[in-house]
Amino acid sequence: MIFTVAIDGPAAAGKGTIARTLAAQFGFRHLDTGLIYRAVGAKVAEGADPVEAAITLQPADMARDDLRSLQAGEGASRVAVMPEVRAALVEFQRRFARVDGGAVLDGRDIGTVICPEAEVKLFVTASAEVRAHRRWLEVGGDAADVLAQVIERDRRDAERATAPMVAAADALLIDTTELSIAAAVERAARAVRTRMDEGRA
Ligand code: C5P
Repeated sequence: MIFTVAIDGPAAAGKGTIARTLAAQFGFRHLDTGLIYRAVGAKVAEGADPVEAAITLQPADMARDDLRSLQAGEGASRVAVMPEVRAALVEFQRRFARVDGGAVLDGRDIGTVICPEAEVKLFVTASAEVRAHRRWLEVGGDAADVLAQVIERDRRDAERATAPMVAAADALLIDTTELSIAAAVERAARAVRTRMDEGRA
């Protein structure tokens, strides 16, 4: 069975939790595509050429344990504006999306560029203040700095020319500003179940 759930939206909106929960619940494979860009950014921070880093990326590069920091996210969004870097990473993501057995991918351009034919598309968002607060609880530091970084990364991701972060026209919008993660997951799961039932009908 080919069935793709595409989840897009800004950092710390809840995409990752929704993606992991749906994957576990429906037995789908999960790909956190942000990790790919974070891994490329980390290699570039060590002096690699961005396009070369993207072309030669290995699964082990995505398993390193320093990819979750704010700096790694910042580095990721800097390499993510480069069309050649994105182009080098498209095929792998497309193949993953259409793998037999179902797949959940979360990122910024999954429903628009990587898999416009996805059976379910979600755009998960929340106010910048709420997302920055969640990040701050995880990473600490100066709360105003964390908010400034969240706003700057949103801007870079939404304004870039290639594959900007934008909701697909047919995406279900889930705003977690005032929604618990459990309620957000339930809404997402309902969308998947409804689409699966339609497929069977
Ligand atoms: O989701 P995460 O915060 O890990 O993503 C890090 C950065 O990678 C994003 O800010 C974005 O610039 C880039 N990214 C992207 N396209 C994706 C996933 C992530 O451009 N599909």
